[in-house]
Amino acid sequence: MKRRLSRKKFTVPERLCPYCGHLYDRVGLGSDDTAPTPNWDIIVCVKCGGVCMLTSALLLRKITEDEMAEFIAEASPEEIKDLQGRRSVIDFVNRVRSDNAKTN
Ligand SMILES: [Zn+2]
Repeated sequence: MKRRLSRKKFTVPERLCPYCGHLYDRVGLGSDDTAPTPNWDIIVCVKCGGVCMLTSALLLRKITEDEMAEFIAEASPEEIKDLQGRRSVIDFVNRVRSDNAKTN
C-alpha cells in the first residue's frame, strides 16, 4: 500500500494537533474518498502545517522520520507538490495573520 495525502473531510472526535494544539473535529479523507487509514494516511494541520498521522484511536500524532522518508520515496511529483503547496499556503496565511496582529 502506498502512503497518500488525505483530502476532503472526515469527522473524528475532537483532537489536538500534536505540534500546535489546534483543535480538530474533522480530518482529510483518503484520496479515493474513503476514511483515512490509521497509521498510514498523512494529514497536514491546517493551522501550523505540521505533518501528522491518524492513530487507530483516531488521535493525531507526529509523523516519524521513517514514515516521512517512505512517503517521499513513493510519492509522485504531484503529491510532493501538493504537500509543499499546502504547507506554503499555511505559512503564508500565518504570516498575514501575524502581520495583521502587529498592525491592529
Ligand atoms: Zn498544528
